[in-house]
Amino acid sequence: MNKSAKIPVADAPIFDPGQWKLTAQQTELSTLARNLGQSVFAARASEYDRNATFPTENFNDLHKAGLLGVCIPEDQGGKGADLKTYMLMASEIGRYCGATALTFNMHVSSCLWTGPLADGLTIDDSLRSKLVAGRKHHYKRIIDDGAIYAQPFSEGGAAAAGKKAFGTTAIRTEGGWRVSGKKIFASLSGHADYYGVLCTELKDENDKPSRSNTMYVAIPANAKGVKVEGEWDPLGMRGTVSRTLIFDDVFIEEDALLMPCGVYFHAASQWPHMFTTLTPAYIGIAQAAYDFTVSYLRGEVPDTPPIKRRMYPTKQIAVAQMRIMLEQTKSLWFQCISEANPNPDKESLLRAWTAQYTVMENANEISQLAIRTCGGQAMLRSLPLERLYRDSRCGALMLPWTAELCLDMIGKAALYQQGETDDE
Ligand SMILES: Cc1cc2nc3c(=O)[nH]c(=O)nc-3n(C[C@H](O)[C@H](O)[C@H](O)COP(=O)(O)OP(=O)(O)OC[C@H]3O[C@@H](n4cnc5c(N)ncnc54)[C@H](O)[C@@H]3O)c2cc1C
Repeated sequence: MNKSAKIPVADAPIFDPGQWKLTAQQTELSTLARNLGQSVFAARASEYDRNATFPTENFNDLHKAGLLGVCIPEDQGGKGADLKTYMLMASEIGRYCGATALTFNMHVSSCLWTGPLADGLTIDDSLRSKLVAGRKHHYKRIIDDGAIYAQPFSEGGAAAAGKKAFGTTAIRTEGGWRVSGKKIFASLSGHADYYGVLCTELKDENDKPSRSNTMYVAIPANAKGVKVEGEWDPLGMRGTVSRTLIFDDVFIEEDALLMPCGVYFHAASQWPHMFTTLTPAYIGIAQAAYDFTVSYLRGEVPDTPPIKRRMYPTKQIAVAQMRIMLEQTKSLWFQCISEANPNPDKESLLRAWTAQYTVMENANEISQLAIRTCGGQAMLRSLPLERLYRDSRCGALMLPWTAELCLDMIGKAALYQQGETDDE
């Protein structure tokens, strides 16, 4: 063998199982995701990005590996992963293809809300038995048919930030509901089999919308009245295909309910950590930008000249800064996902917002430092760094916990106790 030939080195786990004390299941699923990412997702990522196309082949592979059902209970054919286990494995996907990790999150959320999260809720027995009976056929579709679920919540108003009732409505009718409304930035639009829609249940057209009447329903993509509209040509996360969805008087039956009416409202209030599920994609991006920089400065990136740049003190300082930021981000995030539980106390909630803010802002900061440090040749589109940089910019914009809203919430919660005001 030619001595100078580059042997691709397998990436080390983002969270070493021994050092971070991962369980056997966390280790197994993270390894599975990393192997898939490294062997197939990495090579496909630039094309999905370039053409803004959905990563269909990656989803087929996720289905074959049994990962579409990662959060479905084992007795129903899934892998039975809890929130933390899912987050760890998803970060390994984000490392190789951010758009796949982000869209995978939308899909898995439909199982997390209805499964591990709902199981930890305080709800009455009749609601619980309805929940368990209702979710079964959604899970079966995912396990047996590889059905893909999307999570279109955003409407462009204050509802996705949790400030008012969703404008998409479900009006009671014989045998079910009629759903009307519009969702923006609906990742997987045109590619999901079901849209997991949040809407407000109304008794009739004159009923007053209330957040406590939020319904979570799975609308078949091929139902009459479902339309996908608009262009999708964004800065980053281009493979998410987050176009606009229109629901024009779409009829749904009782079995479309992902959760019995009223349960989503409890779940969203009792399980705030659920909103951190947008972060693993960006943990992966932060790790990938750091890893690329180290390889590049060592002259080890495949298909680039083997020129070393590591001997310059400025490069060493930049890598040190990136490493410090990466370690801070990973440690805080790991703590946040380790303590995720229903009804967290104020300290835990403050840490969750801080972790969200830190991951989303630091992924971008690490990526921009990577570009500055590696230099001009490293930002060519033949290499992944410029994509990581563009994808990383999207994290801070994701509702309901955008970077700005996290700052608002952290500042207020740190300065005020529950119920305190400055009004005389
Ligand atoms: C790549 C990508 C994929 C996405 N995929 C999905 C998806 O699958 N499903 C989905 O539901 N959404 C998705 N979103 C949408 C995302 O969660 C936001 O809803 C969207 O980015 C909001 O954009 P906007 O400009 O309309 O926000 P606006 O509501 O106009 O808000 C603009 C900014 O103002 C701030 N702000 C908003 N509300 C308040 C408030 N009440 N108080 C103070 N500040 C506020 C926030 O910081 C926000 O970033 C996606 C977004 C991106 C970028």
